[in-house]
Amino acid sequence: MWTGADGPGFMVSPVMPHSTLPSTGKYPLRMHRTAFTLVEMLVVVAIIAVLAGMLIPTISVVRRLVKDMTCGSQLRQIGAAIEVYKQQNEDRFPAHLIGGTGTTMQSTDDLVHRDGPLQGLPKIFVCPRDGQLGKDANMGRPPGVFTGASLSYLYDSGPVAGGKTAGSSYLFEANGYQLQSAQFSWFYTRVDQEPFTRRTNPEPAPTWAQGKHNQLMNGNPDTAGNVYSGRFPPALFPIIRCFWHNQWTTQNRRTTKKVKNVSWELNVFESIPYWEHDANPDIALPN
Ligand SMILES: [Zn+2]
Repeated sequence: MWTGADGPGFMVSPVMPHSTLPSTGKYPLRMHRTAFTLVEMLVVVAIIAVLAGMLIPTISVVRRLVKDMTCGSQLRQIGAAIEVYKQQNEDRFPAHLIGGTGTTMQSTDDLVHRDGPLQGLPKIFVCPRDGQLGKDANMGRPPGVFTGASLSYLYDSGPVAGGKTAGSSYLFEANGYQLQSAQFSWFYTRVDQEPFTRRTNPEPAPTWAQGKHNQLMNGNPDTAGNVYSGRFPPALFPIIRCFWHNQWTTQNRRTTKKVKNVSWELNVFESIPYWEHDANPDIALPN
């Protein structure tokens, strides 16, 4: 007679240990888990922090490189537009890049107005590294680094300090500003200056563009104002310059650091602010 659960008719098979259950995956079922431990989380966070610390400086370097390249591309495009302008205007340079006035300017012609080749593209004149969007009359240099803020006439405005009429980051070397008496010696020998200095009111005085052409072909007058240093390589002769790629201090005014240039031949290159020395090392650095 059956007397209890242990009777043979109700014998239950012993439960198999988990470890012997058939496994469907790589691990035994007992190893299945759903959460990270605290230590694992801390390790992951630490790794992410290290990676971010490595990446963030890299990203800022890349950003700066892209801005530098964009500026170089803009300089080259403006240089190409100047070539188009010259072909349409008997090989003369435009007086300005993007406009301006002034009684000593050869004309009011520029690249964006009056059917200029860059009309409708004023943004091309602002360097991506120019935090003032082309509104700084000193073109990114501290006041007085060269011969004063009045040099803003070199760029896109009339010969009035801070008289810029539109945003431009760029210095235009071959502009239409007519040379003043004190500036002849920068480009011409004493003999060359005579026809102009003999007259009280030279008419017409050479423009900055003409003086630059003379400098390209003949070099710089020596300190006595007599002989030239010799022709510059056109690929290293700047026509438009950007000074925004530099951290200016009183120590690096003209002889150190690099500025970005596009040359007479549309070559984009870097040079020190006093580019003459880079193009021709025989030309001594100024004091
Ligand atoms: Zn620039």
